[in-house]
Amino acid sequence: MSPEAFFPPVPAGPDSGVLTPAQRVSAVMRRAVATGLVGEEQPVAGFLDTDGIRASVESLDAAFAHAPDVLHTFAVKAASLVPVLRLLAGLGMGAEVASPGELRIALDAGVAPSRIVLDSPAKTRQEISEALALGVAVNADNLDELRRIDVLRPEGSTSVVGLRVNPQVGGGSIGAMSTATATSKFGVALRDPGARDRVVRAFAERPWLTRLHAHVGSQGCPLELIAEGVAETYRLAEEINRTLGARQITSLDIGGGLPVNFYDDETRPTFAAYTRALGAAVPGLFDGRYALVTEFGRSLLAKNGFIGARVEYTKEAGGRRIAVTHAGAQTATRTVLMPDAWPLRVGAHDADGNPRTGAPLRQDIAGPCCFAGDVVAHGQELPELREGDFVVLHDTGAYYFSTHWAYNSLPRPAVHGFTADGSGGVRLATVRAAQTLDEIAAESGLAHAGALVSLAAPGGL
Ligand SMILES: *Cc1c(COP(=O)(O)O)cnc(C)c1O
Repeated sequence: MSPEAFFPPVPAGPDSGVLTPAQRVSAVMRRAVATGLVGEEQPVAGFLDTDGIRASVESLDAAFAHAPDVLHTFAVKAASLVPVLRLLAGLGMGAEVASPGELRIALDAGVAPSRIVLDSPAKTRQEISEALALGVAVNADNLDELRRIDVLRPEGSTSVVGLRVNPQVGGGSIGAMSTATATSKFGVALRDPGARDRVVRAFAERPWLTRLHAHVGSQGCPLELIAEGVAETYRLAEEINRTLGARQITSLDIGGGLPVNFYDDETRPTFAAYTRALGAAVPGLFDGRYALVTEFGRSLLAKNGFIGARVEYTKEAGGRRIAVTHAGAQTATRTVLMPDAWPLRVGAHDADGNPRTGAPLRQDIAGPCCFAGDVVAHGQELPELREGDFVVLHDTGAYYFSTHWAYNSLPRPAVHGFTADGSGGVRLATVRAAQTLDEIAAESGLAHAGALVSLAAPGGL
């Protein structure tokens, strides 16, 4: 089913300046080309719109304004970049982390431990101990993890501890993004025989267990499905508190997962549409009896970033026109490997960064990786691309800058932030430099260069 079937168009979000989204992209590309941020030497780079990020956070805040107590955390995996986390922290957001690395960069960015939620699916004892020592909130994935926490939790720990449940309400159009199927690996599967009773007992035995967590789905899941998962979680919290005769569960972490429209510039569904769907499915959710935590990633960042990549060659094969660019599976991994689930809009820009005009021509937009499937868009109708032009991959602000693939030892591209300068132009700042060849060599075992030769040498050490 096309995502459009789920989400009827609604008006675009708040205006983030005098420039339209297309004009902003062009202004950035012109400036990036003029200053060498993309070009022959840096053939691919990512760009993040700080005005857009601010506007997205404002629309999130506005959509939940009627909730008396809510902490919005940003799902760090969607853009694991310290400057992004610092910007978001300055806008009042916390961080949802799922690994020691993500926890580290959230702390480095200055996010207060009390505003961090740890959701790693496979937490080690050490990871749990460190989080509990810092006061980071921990959502246990399963009952065995709760038993580890029983042992590791220091007396008087300030960490909020929750339990993740899988309401098993079903999946969306992308299997790998559907977290609430019957057999999902996440959380305690609530509808399995006996599971509900075991969960109630787990709370009864642990007065410090005060939160329920569910992250029902991501891209491809309709709002109503996500809202139904949250409703199921809310009903469970009510049942537990009723059974225990006390308001032990004081907060609900409702996860993230709002899908994103990758087909045009409109933001849909909006956060406001989501809170309306939540309000309809769970009338009591916003009445303040439960503090709320959210964990949005893609919906905050996707439309606030893009990739610019140089066209190195153009060619014909079997009657098909192909542009060989520097944006491929190393940076648009999911799009290349699962093109139907993760299509991207491609824009054509000339060698100065201006949008190309001209009659549309069907072209494949290929990447630099050595496998035949390394194509980010098949048969795109675009003005004819030429050597030295640039392609823009729109709506790539979430995940595309944090899920680089080291295939072919291609470097992680640079990421730059931008803001409108108020007079039709933009200012840029580097968020992450491109990986250097020295860094690639180091990451490739340079320090152990002789290891295998010495292993193989007879009698060698
Ligand atoms: C990935 C993830 C999120 C964020 O999902 P988005 O679809 O990017 O909003 C939130 N919570 C958990 C537990 C996740 O795994």
